[in-house]
Amino acid sequence: MSQSFLNAKFDSLTAYTPGEQPQNKTLIKLNTNELPYPASSKAIAAAAQAARTMQLYPDPNGNEVCNALSSFMNLQPNQVTFSNGSDEMLGFAFMGFCPNGAAFADITYGFYNVFADLYQVEKQIMPLKEDFSIDINAYNQLGKTIFIANPNAPTGLLLSVQDIETILQNNLNSLVIIDEAYIDFGGKSCVTLIPKYNNLLVIGTFSKSRGMAGARFGWAAGNEQLIADINKIRYSFNPYNVNKLTLAAATAAIKDVGYFGHCVNRIIKTREITQECLKHLGFICNKSYGNFVFVKHPKFSGQEVYAYLRQQGILVRWFNQPKISDYVRISIGTEKDMETLINTLENLIPNVENV
Ligand SMILES: *Cc1c(COP(=O)(O)O)cnc(C)c1O
Repeated sequence: MSQSFLNAKFDSLTAYTPGEQPQNKTLIKLNTNELPYPASSKAIAAAAQAARTMQLYPDPNGNEVCNALSSFMNLQPNQVTFSNGSDEMLGFAFMGFCPNGAAFADITYGFYNVFADLYQVEKQIMPLKEDFSIDINAYNQLGKTIFIANPNAPTGLLLSVQDIETILQNNLNSLVIIDEAYIDFGGKSCVTLIPKYNNLLVIGTFSKSRGMAGARFGWAAGNEQLIADINKIRYSFNPYNVNKLTLAAATAAIKDVGYFGHCVNRIIKTREITQECLKHLGFICNKSYGNFVFVKHPKFSGQEVYAYLRQQGILVRWFNQPKISDYVRISIGTEKDMETLINTLENLIPNVENV
């Protein structure tokens, strides 16, 4: 090996492992929770229009997108900001808002752990209960910045707005960050609590429910002071963090309320049908509030299900980590994708009882 010039403080860093992104189109891709439908045609048209002036820098204030986002959420424009995917916003949060460490669940979005290590933030790992639910009583006067994915990934479980309010009240001197990547698939957003709590930051993404994973757009909402502080970090890191094609596409997508509702409802319907079919095949399913299901089978390990599906041309996600290695996470694709999935699994599990 040749000499490494990386700062030695990063020697032990383990980078985030993204789900596989095969460029081979013949696989059915149910591994990274993308929407199986295209983005709003209005968003695509707006991006094409914006491309005509790509010789110019984008608006660093993102005025248009902030106006659209804030009016969609019933907030003021200075109560929202944006990022290059919500991962970047989470990065800002770990970089700038965890002076006393960060607390997050043992089973949750894997990037929290990576960012904590990258920014050398002390971690307090909060074990989920046996049934994967969050023990909200454990989140009391933690004195650390709290990160909660709601619905949680990869479990799909949801906290109520009331439970989140309890956590906010029990940690008034700490920032509580709610990652709502999957909230549109049946949960209730806690942005409604923003006028009441200055310790709440809600983060969201257009990668899942808006079909814009490739465009990279994330947002954060919170009180004006909090957003001004995030923008201080954002402008210090990269004032042009979101390109102008994406800014235009995101603005148009927010306004296309009809298409958004249509896509989300279709996913919810397909998710419910898929869960029923999987249960019929003997899988154990949590109720899911995301655009994915998290399931295990009593006769097959998670790795076996993953490997079998992979061999049959269907990619799902398997996490080789304690407590969840029996499970696979399956994104909700089109109706046809899910039919293929179920038919394929029927070949693995031929002796279905109660057929
Ligand atoms: C997908 C995901 C994100 C990141 O999404 P971006 O594509 O970076 O916007 C953040 N949090 C959770 C829980 C996710 O599942």
